[in-house]
Amino acid sequence: MGEPEQHVFGLREETRAPRGNPHRHRENMQTPHRLSGDQSHVLLHHPGAVGQQNYSLWKNQHRFNAYLSVKKFAQERIAPLVSKMDENSAMDEAVIKDLFDQGLMGIEIDPQYGGTGASFFSSILVIEELAKVDPSVAVLCDIQNTLINTLFVKLGTEAQKECYLPRLSTEMVGSFCLSEAESGSDAFSLKTRAEKHKDYYIINGSKMWISNAEYAGVFLVMANVDPSAGYRGITCFIVDRDTEGLHIGRKENKLGLRASSTCPLNFDNVKVPESNILGKAGQGYKYAIGMLNEGRIGIAAQMVGLAQGCFDQTIPYVQQRVQFGKRIFDFQGMQHQISHVATQLEAARLLTYNAARLKEAGKPFIKEACMAKYFAAEVATLTTSKCIEWMGGVGFTKDYPIEKFYRDCKIGTIYEGTTNIQLTTISKFIDQEYNG
Ligand SMILES: Cc1cc2nc3c(=O)[nH]c(=O)nc-3n(C[C@H](O)[C@H](O)[C@H](O)COP(=O)(O)OP(=O)(O)OC[C@H]3O[C@@H](n4cnc5c(N)ncnc54)[C@H](O)[C@@H]3O)c2cc1C
Repeated sequence: MGEPEQHVFGLREETRAPRGNPHRHRENMQTPHRLSGDQSHVLLHHPGAVGQQNYSLWKNQHRFNAYLSVKKFAQERIAPLVSKMDENSAMDEAVIKDLFDQGLMGIEIDPQYGGTGASFFSSILVIEELAKVDPSVAVLCDIQNTLINTLFVKLGTEAQKECYLPRLSTEMVGSFCLSEAESGSDAFSLKTRAEKHKDYYIINGSKMWISNAEYAGVFLVMANVDPSAGYRGITCFIVDRDTEGLHIGRKENKLGLRASSTCPLNFDNVKVPESNILGKAGQGYKYAIGMLNEGRIGIAAQMVGLAQGCFDQTIPYVQQRVQFGKRIFDFQGMQHQISHVATQLEAARLLTYNAARLKEAGKPFIKEACMAKYFAAEVATLTTSKCIEWMGGVGFTKDYPIEKFYRDCKIGTIYEGTTNIQLTTISKFIDQEYNG
C-alpha cells in the first residue's frame, strides 16, 4: 500500500488498527488531523470563546475539512444505495463496512483502542451529515457512538475495554436493549430477569424494538437482578451475539427507517459470567438515563440532518419548476413558507448544537437535550411535509427521495423518549427553576 491509510477524520495510520480501505477518497488525503477534545464547535457560534485567534482558525479549518469529508463520503458511497436499501428493508453490508473503514463507528473512542479520538460534537456533526443522505445509516452510527461506545468507555473495566473497544471501532456493531413489549416510556418497569448463581447470571425475558439487532455482534442488555428492589435492581449486561439462548426475532416491517433493522430479542436461560456486568449491579437505570440524555442530542442531530437533506433536494426543484409563466419559487406565498421552514430548521440546529456544546463542556444539558430532540422532531415533520407539498405530485412519488424523508421523520417523536416524555422532563426543570 503506497499511501498511509486515512479516513474521514484524517487520522494517521499508526493510530489505528491496520486494515484495508479500498474506498478512500482523494479529499481524505490531506494533512493528518483530528478533532479530539477540541472546542471548534464553540468557536463556530461563539468566535470569541477562546482568545487565541490563530488557534481558533486552525481548529475551525480542521473541523471544516472533516465535515467536507463526511459529506463527500455520504454522497458517493451511501446515496446510490438509499432507495434500494429502503425498498429491500435491508442495510447494504458495504455501507456498514464503509462506516467502520471511515472511522465513523468509533468517533470518540481513543486511538489506543483503534478509535478516532474525536469529540462528542464531532459525532453529532457526523450523524447530522449522514442523516441528510439516509437517516437509517445515521441511526446506526448514532447508537454505536452515543450509546454503545460511550457506555463501554465510561463504565468498562480495562479488560472489557480491551476486549470490545477495538472491535467496536473497526468491525462490530452494538445494540442497546432497554425496551420491552410492556415497558416503553415506563422503561424501568422492565421484566427481563437476571438471576445470580455463584459467579454467573442466568438471563430470562425478552426485549423489543432493538435497533441494529440484525447485524449486532454485542448487546448491552438491561435486566433486573433484584425485582424486590424495583428499578434499583436494573443491571447492564454485556451479551455476545453467539451466546446460547439468545434468539433474535424477525425484524419489524416499519413505516420508515426501513434499512435499519428493529428486532425483538428473546433470552432463554442465557448464561453470562459476572464479569459481563458493565458498571455496577443495580446501577443500570442510572446508566440508561444518562446515556439516553446524551443520545437524545444524537437523535436531534438525525432529525436536523434529515430535514436539511429533504430541504436541499426540494429547493432546486421549486427554483426550476415553472407555473403561470414563472418559477414557483417566485410566488410570495411560496417564499414565505420556505423562509419559515428554513428559520425553524436553523433554530433546531442551534438547539441541537447548544445541547451538544453544554454536554461537552460538562455543564447541565438535560433540559436542553430534551428541547433539542422535541423541537428537531417537530421541525423534521414540518419540513418533510411542506417539501412534499412544494414539489406537488412528484413529491408524492418514489421518483424523488422526499416521501422517504417524510416516512423516516416520524420516528423522531417516538424513540429515545417520546415527544410527551421530552415535554414532561422539560416541565420538571421549569418547575424546579421557578421553585414550584
Ligand atoms: C424504530 C424503533 C427503534 C427503536 N430502537 C430501540 C432500541 O434500539 N433500544 C431500545 O431499548 N428501544 C428502542 N425503541 C423503543 C422506543 O424507545 C419506544 O418505542 C419508546 O420509548 C416508546 O415506548 P412505546 O413504544 O412502548 O410507547 P408507549 O410508552 O406505550 O407510549 C404510547 C403513547 O403514550 C404516551 N405516553 C406514555 N407515557 C406517558 C406519560 N407519562 N405522559 C404522557 N404521555 C405518555 C407516549 O408519549 C406515546 O404517545 C425503538 C422503537 C422504534 C419504533
